[in-house]
Amino acid sequence: MRADELPKADLVLEGHFDKDHERRYAHVPFEVPSGRRQLHIRYAYSDQIDSDPLITGGNTLDIGLFDERGIAASSAGFRGWSGSNKMELTIDETWATPPYRKGRIGAGTWHVLLGPYKVGPRGCDWKVEVWFDPGLRSPWRMSGAVRRVDPDPLPAAREGWLRGDLHCHTLYSDGDSWPQEMLIAGSEAGLDFLGVTDHNNVGHQLAYGPGGDGLPIVLPGVEVTTYGGHWNAWGTDRWWEFREPEAQAVERTMRAAAESGAVVSICHPKPFGPPWEYAVDGGFHAVEVWNGPWAQLNAASLAYWEELLRRGVRRAAVGGSDTHYLHRSGVPAGHLDALGTPTTWVDAGDRPTVATILAALRDGRSFVSASPRGPQLYLEPDRGRAGRVALEVRNGAGARLELITAARSPQRLVVDSSAWDATFDVPAGAGFARAQLVSERGDVVALSNPVWADRL
Ligand SMILES: [Zn+2]
Repeated sequence: MRADELPKADLVLEGHFDKDHERRYAHVPFEVPSGRRQLHIRYAYSDQIDSDPLITGGNTLDIGLFDERGIAASSAGFRGWSGSNKMELTIDETWATPPYRKGRIGAGTWHVLLGPYKVGPRGCDWKVEVWFDPGLRSPWRMSGAVRRVDPDPLPAAREGWLRGDLHCHTLYSDGDSWPQEMLIAGSEAGLDFLGVTDHNNVGHQLAYGPGGDGLPIVLPGVEVTTYGGHWNAWGTDRWWEFREPEAQAVERTMRAAAESGAVVSICHPKPFGPPWEYAVDGGFHAVEVWNGPWAQLNAASLAYWEELLRRGVRRAAVGGSDTHYLHRSGVPAGHLDALGTPTTWVDAGDRPTVATILAALRDGRSFVSASPRGPQLYLEPDRGRAGRVALEVRNGAGARLELITAARSPQRLVVDSSAWDATFDVPAGAGFARAQLVSERGDVVALSNPVWADRL
């Protein structure tokens, strides 16, 4: 039996959302009888439009599923969330539509989670159909062996420094590839680590495995996707509450994730990121100041971060490509994804492990550059000389270096060789110093984390 040959559904749930339901999740209960081994769910709704924030005037309805173990914030009953990306899903004891979790179909009250992300002027009429034990076979074939192409040799980094990408998506949310394909693409790009961040799911983590052994080291993570902004957590194996789009609740959840040992970062705080709408200073370690190619409005994310720094809110800068598509053809130029665009470089010391990479991200012992080829930009206290910072730039010849502090206008110098260094005074009242490299076109091609004046 195929999903398009199914007979009449066993159960039909229907309802309507008005404009005032927009961005408020609803939990729709239904009863699962005992002895079932498979559940198939299909949904449909009126005036359907794409989830792209630029498109308005109709409805976008997200879906997720909780089993009989309940809908609480950390419930083991969370079986998955697929946004508006999939119109039907199967959960079987032995397989499931990604990102949903396979396993026992327990008897009792389950809940379909419906999220009216957008509600148009006519409201949203929705229908959810449920089949019990329809006998569907898995149409999902995880690709196994994929031939790996070794990258051309990359410019050497400093001893102990690793290059990685912190943000990508697979078939376990709205990407087009399997985790194994993403890992291989990462190794072809020359990455040493990969932060794996499907939306509101952790099912991808198991499929990735730990990486390493010639592949990028996997930082297990999740992109917590709320209706007022997204945040990444790396170093966590569980899902985090995404249903409450109020600043206080979001900050509370980020704090809980941070306290559990995860590194927490605000994602793409820029127009169409989608943006970050929560006015909170606490609960996160980092800001994704650079998401995808620089020209895609990342100046707004940089300005958001710099405003925090100027207020003395000490947060690290990170970057991520937000890669979704490794295969899709017909993607317009400029929208093609490339792992490592940008690349985040971290000082992992003498042991490249998940723990040392997370520690470097948390502490801001890192910088971000346009690609795995660099340029490389190392900024640190000038050893033995108080009140000064030392800079080293590799493979940045021709770019303009800007040294920025809270206190005075930026100092600018042209980098005139591929191995370049300099030192700068940072007066006690300067707050912080950070550096960035800017191309002739005016794009940032590398940026450092800040050195704080009170630690010089
Ligand atoms: Zn996002």
